[in-house]
Amino acid sequence: MITIQGKGVSAGVGVGPLYFYHRAKTTIKRYHVEDVDAEWHRFKGAQTAAIEQLGELADKARAEAGDEAAMLFETHQMMAEDLDYEEAIEQQIKEEKNNAEAAVTDVAAQFAEMFASMEDSYMQARAADVKDVSNRILGILAGVAAGGIASEVPVILAADDLAPSETVQLDKSKILGFITAGGSGSSHTAILARTMGIPAIVGVGNALKPEYEGRPVIIDGGTGNVVIDPDDMTRDRLLKKREEELRLQRLLESLKGQPNITKDGKSIRIYCNIGSPEDVHAVQVNDGGGIGLFRSEFLYLNGEDYPTEEQQFEAYKQVLSDMEGKEVIIRTCDIGADKQIGYFNLPKEENPAMGMRALRISLTRPDFFKTQLRALYRASAYGKLGIMFPMVTSVWEVREAKKICENVKNELKAEGIPYSENVQIGIMIETPAAAIMSDRLAKEVDFFSCGTNDLTQYTLACDRQNNDLGRFYDPHHPAVLRLLKLVADNAHKNGIWVGICGELGADLTLTETFLAIGIDELSVSPRAVLPLRNAVRMTDTRESSPRILEALGSEYHHT
Ligand code: PEP
Ligand code: MG
Repeated sequence: MITIQGKGVSAGVGVGPLYFYHRAKTTIKRYHVEDVDAEWHRFKGAQTAAIEQLGELADKARAEAGDEAAMLFETHQMMAEDLDYEEAIEQQIKEEKNNAEAAVTDVAAQFAEMFASMEDSYMQARAADVKDVSNRILGILAGVAAGGIASEVPVILAADDLAPSETVQLDKSKILGFITAGGSGSSHTAILARTMGIPAIVGVGNALKPEYEGRPVIIDGGTGNVVIDPDDMTRDRLLKKREEELRLQRLLESLKGQPNITKDGKSIRIYCNIGSPEDVHAVQVNDGGGIGLFRSEFLYLNGEDYPTEEQQFEAYKQVLSDMEGKEVIIRTCDIGADKQIGYFNLPKEENPAMGMRALRISLTRPDFFKTQLRALYRASAYGKLGIMFPMVTSVWEVREAKKICENVKNELKAEGIPYSENVQIGIMIETPAAAIMSDRLAKEVDFFSCGTNDLTQYTLACDRQNNDLGRFYDPHHPAVLRLLKLVADNAHKNGIWVGICGELGADLTLTETFLAIGIDELSVSPRAVLPLRNAVRMTDTRESSPRILEALGSEYHHT
C-alpha cells in the first residue's frame, strides 16, 4: 500500500484504476519567416478558430456544469483576443520575424510567468489559463487533435496539470476522480470538479510514478489522501465513508422543495448571496428561497468606466425577472477598502478599511448614487426588490440615503416611468456602531442584514484580509455573537426582520445559535443552502435554545 498526501479540493471518495492523462504532443518548430504578413495571417486564422472552439466549449460546459463553468471559457475567449497578448505576438512575428508557433510559445511563457509571480493566488492560477489558450492556438497551427481517455472502464485520472478545456472535453462518465501534480484550490480543474461533484486532489508533486498506472487507487477529496493498492482495512474504511457521503448527497437532494423548519416548528428563510446575474442559475438549482445579498460591485469592477443607468437597469431587471417574484435584495455599491477601482479616483488612504468606502462614497457623490437608485427603482417593476446600504454607522446616513431614494421615486413618477411602491429598504449591520445603535436604526428601515465578515473585522479590530491573524479573527467570538443577539432583539422589538449575509450564516456549528437568537433569514452561497436546510430540520430549539442563550450571557469558551 502506498499513501500520498495532496491537497483535497473537491470532496468525495473515488475508487478505481489509476490512469495517466495522455496528452497529444505538439512539437514546436522554430524558424524565421520572410513574409511576415502571411505569417501574421496564419496566426490570426488560428486565433479565430480557437475563439470559435472556445465558444463551443462554453456551450458544452454550460450544459454539463452550469453558467459558472461556461464563464471560464468565455474568459478564455477574451484572453485569446486580449490586445496586449495579441500585440506581443504581432511584435514577435513582424519585428523579430519569428514563426507563429515560436511567437505564441514565447509570449505564452512570458504571460504565464507574469501571472505566476503575482501575489494573489487567484491571479497565479491564471497562468494555467494563458498556457491553455496558447496551446489551443498552437494545436490549431500544427493541426493536432486534443488528448483523451482511451480506457473502457471509469478511472481515477492523473495528470501533471489539467487545463480547463481538457477537463471539459473529457468524457465524465469515465472519471471517478482527479489527481494532479500541480494546481491549486482555485485552479479551474478544481472549480469544475467541485461543480460536477467529482472528487479531486491537487499538488501531489511527482509522487505518482508511471509504474502505478492501472493499479487500484482510492482518493479522498476531503482529506487530500491518495492510496495506491489499498489494504482491506483502508479500503473498507474509505468505502464506508463514500457510502456515507452518497447517503448525505441523496438526503440533500431529497430536501429540495422542503421547508426550512425545525423539529419544533420554527422556520427560517434561507436565501443566497450572488455576485452577478449568471449566479441565479445556481440559486435555482440549489432551491434558494430568494437572494439575500446581490453584491452589485461586479457592475463596477468589470468595466473601464462607471456603468450607465441603462446597463445597471438591465442587470437588476434580469435578476428580478429570473427569480420570478421571489425576494431579491440588492446591495448598493460597496466599493473602497479591498475593492479599489481606478476610475473612481479615490485618494490613497492610510487605513482604507476605515476610509471612504461603500455608503460613504454614495452619500459623498449623490449623482453617482442616484444613477444606481434610478436603475434599481426602475427594475423594481419586474419583481420583489429590497435595497440595502452597506457600511452604515449612523442614523443620519440612513435618513440621507432614504431621502435620495424619495427624490429618485419622485423623479421617476414625474417622468411616467413605472416602479414598485413596495420596495423594502434595509441596512447592513457590519460595524459595531450600527449594532449598538440598532434600536434607533430599526425605526428607519424595513430590515437588517448582518455582514459578519466586516462586523468581525471591526469588532475585533482584526483585518479580514490579513491571513497571518489566523485565530485572532474569530467570528465565533462572543463579542460578535452578543452583538448579533442585540441586533436581533432590537429588530424584533421594532417589528422588522433580521438576517445574516456574511460567511458565518453558512457555519453549521452556529445554526442552532442563530435559531436561538431569532435570526429570520440566512443568506449563504447557493451550495450551502441544502446542508443548512438539513441542519435546521435536525434542530429542536426547545432543547438547544435555552442552553445557547444562557451560554451567550456567560463566560467565553473558545471554539
Ligand atoms: C460582510 O461584510 O459580511 C458582507 C456580507 O459584505 P462583504 O463581504 O461584501 O464585505
Ligand atoms: Mg461587508
